[in-house]
Amino acid sequence: MHTIPGELLIVGGEDVRRGLPMPECIEAVERAMRAVSSGAAVIPLRTIMAMPDGRNFFGVMPGYIEDPRGLGAKILTVYPDNPRRGLSSHIGVVVVFDPETGFPCAVMDAAQITAIRTAAASAVATRALARADAAHLAVLGTGEQAATHIESIAHVRDLRTIRIWGRSSGKAQALADRVRAAVSAPIEVSSSAERAVREADIVCTVTAAREPVLCGEWLKEGSHVNLVGASQISAREADDVLVARARFFVDSRVSARAEAGELHHALEAGLISADHVRGEIGEVLNGTVPGRRTEREVTVYKSLGIAAQDVAATQVILKRAAAGIGTRVPF
Ligand code: NDP
Repeated sequence: MHTIPGELLIVGGEDVRRGLPMPECIEAVERAMRAVSSGAAVIPLRTIMAMPDGRNFFGVMPGYIEDPRGLGAKILTVYPDNPRRGLSSHIGVVVVFDPETGFPCAVMDAAQITAIRTAAASAVATRALARADAAHLAVLGTGEQAATHIESIAHVRDLRTIRIWGRSSGKAQALADRVRAAVSAPIEVSSSAERAVREADIVCTVTAAREPVLCGEWLKEGSHVNLVGASQISAREADDVLVARARFFVDSRVSARAEAGELHHALEAGLISADHVRGEIGEVLNGTVPGRRTEREVTVYKSLGIAAQDVAATQVILKRAAAGIGTRVPF
């Protein structure tokens, strides 16, 4: 740990972006997911508190990983209407502690860490589960996660086309214009979610929708889907057909049981059994559960987001503290 007792490192959003390059975050998150599935991490189920308005949420996500050793908690709000005010919908801090002394050593911007680490986790899953020749990406959603997912997936597969769909075509176009310079594949805006995904090899759903925006029957054989947006048991981005059709993986079995709306709905409908989840992505990475078995099966990675990913991201940023990332204040 590059921290000094008696000082707190403050890392704002700009510095998180500089200190957490996507390729390094992908590798750090992969290590964290392996640790989660091999018992080398502690991640209790997060606490999500609904605000009295029922629309906004406050969450606390503690976590510890053994290698590299990291301890911390993300404390954030989810205010879905914030983008209308020009603010991120996910705002907060990740507080980092020294696991040796228990001393708090850094406070970092959670919005940027969340935007980057979530996309990195989807890239890790895509690298493990998508066909090696997967080249056509569809992204449903046009917010912060949509932008970082386009960047992260381009790091793990040679993309030939990228299609974006959003319920606002203006926002989809604006996103396409914003990310075009960062990726080499041509980017198109699709007029419907179905058009976006019909030819896709990789689909990322990154919307705040509570009802399905993705239907299983639209997908071609052999595709891989990252379901990222719905984080509550009462919300889902994909229909039961997709869940029943797919070889299904999750980031954490504990979180999936408690929070995965797509699984819950399909189970309630009697379309899947309780053992439908094939494994955690960390089990696939550790080689204890087979991932994709054929070129034709559809694979799904259900991402709920876990604190081990945040802690892993803070470790990458801390390594750069000596190189001028963040500001030290007495504490
Ligand atoms: P943003 O607020 O930046 O973007 C939300 C996107 O969802 C916008 O494109 C919005 O469209 C779209 N949207 C909202 N409601 C609907 C709907 N009913 N149908 C279709 N599209 C809709 O959020 P983020 O990009 O930061 O996050 C996206 C989702 O991912 C959120 O649900 C968030 O909670 C989740 N998330 C998951 C994480 C994980 O680890 N799995 C981590 C972080 C976020 P419009 O602009 O038109 O409103």
